[in-house]
Amino acid sequence: MHKIKKVAIIGLGLIGSSIAHAVRRGNIAAEIAGSDSSADVLARAQVLDFCDSLHADAAAAAQDADVVILCTPVGAYKTVAEEIAPHLKPGAILSDVGSVKSAVIRDVGPFVPKGVHFIPAHPIAGTEFSGPEAGFASLFDGRWTILTPVRGSDPGAVERLRDFWQSLGSQVDVMNAGHHDLVLAITSHLPHLIAYNIVGTAHDLEKVTQGEVIKYSASGFRDFTRIAASDPTMWRDVFLNNRDAVLEVLGRFNEDLSQLQRAVRNGDGKTLFDWFTRTRAIRRAIVNTGQDVPSFGRLPFQVYIPPEKSRKRGTKKKKKAKSGKAKKKKPVARKAAGKTKKRRAR
Ligand code: NAP
Repeated sequence: MHKIKKVAIIGLGLIGSSIAHAVRRGNIAAEIAGSDSSADVLARAQVLDFCDSLHADAAAAAQDADVVILCTPVGAYKTVAEEIAPHLKPGAILSDVGSVKSAVIRDVGPFVPKGVHFIPAHPIAGTEFSGPEAGFASLFDGRWTILTPVRGSDPGAVERLRDFWQSLGSQVDVMNAGHHDLVLAITSHLPHLIAYNIVGTAHDLEKVTQGEVIKYSASGFRDFTRIAASDPTMWRDVFLNNRDAVLEVLGRFNEDLSQLQRAVRNGDGKTLFDWFTRTRAIRRAIVNTGQDVPSFGRLPFQVYIPPEKSRKRGTKKKKKAKSGKAKKKKPVARKAAGKTKKRRAR
């Protein structure tokens, strides 16, 4: 017996496809309906066969669904919410996976019809890869998902969403959106900004040193390049939509960096040693809680990244072509390393 009759997933990239795979794995819903604004993504999702029905029209996917999850970049939420709102059934849960929460409440909240339970959420799980081929069922296993209910949220609906994420393998915490945004600004958003910055700076430097920065990059720099390969559309939207919290932690970061700069200039070994000892302990604590999963639970050759598309992603107009149910296909085996891998530069 399925827990849920129909789940609708809007946006079939890394996170959306991973939810679909995990719902299938857990036999959680009788039907998984998927929608994406890109005809190309829909065609690839059909081949990958992780949804029971595919729709170019988000409203068609959301119709009659018990749980609807927005999995597009945050910048597209407002448009999608406006499109699907009139088609949501009373009693349905409308949720999302966006990396920021206050802006999501601001953009989606006004469209939520009476009787629909709007409960924003954010799974703290991901990789630097994008697209439907990047998804996998175990992405959320043992990771945290944060729910940020809005004022007046129905506690029963919050519990149903908690149960849903636990069925996907996740642990669940509940907090308010503002607190979420501050916590994530320091644990996720600022590290990405630093990575984008350091890799850009090194690239500029590389022109001066003719390749030596890349050639002799120790593992520290390589780790930064992995983070800096993350999706540009998604991260642009994160910084545009969590500005205040990011600026606040960036201010603190700059103060601390100045302190370290002073210690280096003054040859203050004690300050440096004490600082590095403290941060090493933080790293050990993260490893001990099992939140360090560098391989993201699967081998790199399982990821297929399509070639770079010329058009802009995230905020474009939806293509209306080819709506309706797509024909179901048999799952295709993923091919081995080197044979099929195409990469989209991220
Ligand atoms: P992704 O792999 O790029 O997937 C997003 C998908 O949404 C793409 O297929 C995109 O199509 C589609 N899309 C864009 N605009 C749309 C619209 N208006 N209607 C329907 N579909 C649309 O991105 P992702 O990594 O899964 O991230 C999705 C969400 O998850 C974001 O809100 C992000 O903040 C959140 N999140 C991401 C991570 C992570 O590590 N990646 C972790 C936690 C949460 P096109 O490619 O054709 O534009």
